Amino acid sequence: FLTMPQEPVIAIDRVNHYYGSGRLRKQILFEVTSEIQPGEIVIMMGPSGSGKTTLLTLIGALRSTQEGSMKVLGQQLRNAPNSRLVNLRRNIGYIFQAHNLLNSLTARQNVQMSLELHDQHLTRREREHRAEEMLEAVGLRDWRDYYPHDLSGGQKQRVAIARALASHPKIVLADEPTSALDKQSGRDVVEIMQRLAKQQGSAILMVTHDNRILDVADRIINMEDGRLSNLEAVPV
Ligand code: ADP
Ligand code: MG
Repeated sequence: FLTMPQEPVIAIDRVNHYYGSGRLRKQILFEVTSEIQPGEIVIMMGPSGSGKTTLLTLIGALRSTQEGSMKVLGQQLRNAPNSRLVNLRRNIGYIFQAHNLLNSLTARQNVQMSLELHDQHLTRREREHRAEEMLEAVGLRDWRDYYPHDLSGGQKQRVAIARALASHPKIVLADEPTSALDKQSGRDVVEIMQRLAKQQGSAILMVTHDNRILDVADRIINMEDGRLSNLEAVPV
């Protein structure tokens, strides 16, 4: 039968990035080129300071692309008007190293608030229902009315995952999501991410140093001194 050719959800072509200006201007990314397909789980490794977070923030439309082509969900981000960037951010789930939950909101309210921003056609009741479903999916049904302060690191990161995936984004960007967690909660968190992403068909680009979770990836890429390459063999 015929299969539709699928557009990559992320297409990066010869992207350069610089910080600073004048004599302090320093190049951080060099001719970065890569594609990520729908539903693909890609892990990015590489030493600290090599440019991984910079690349993630460019893909996530949190920083302007200066040189090269950065197409995300079919939209060119270079020289894009702000409205396009804002719109695109609604279609991306972000999970950061620190959970970034709002401490004055319960687990459920944190997820609901994200749905208010991302899925504006949902009714209040639908948002509540979706938030409950997502918290159940990450194993936090009995914790939904707790505040971040009363949750463990692993639980907070699971709320962050529920929040990032609640609106069924086509892309999830995760920057060292397990770095603050012990081995077992790190593993749990990543397996939950993998399961939800596969169910929803979301692509994941995840930065990690954690060798024990590399097996969840469909592909591993490596950043070194601002240059991106495919990893031939999985490090052990
Ligand atoms: P990684 O995530 O791989 O650790 P980063 O993308 O955070 O790397 O940083 C890459 C380089 O850019 C580092 O040398 C860092 O010091 C520098 N850098 C990061 N953010 C900024 C910034 N906002 N202004 C200036 N330099 C920065
Ligand atoms: Mg980083």
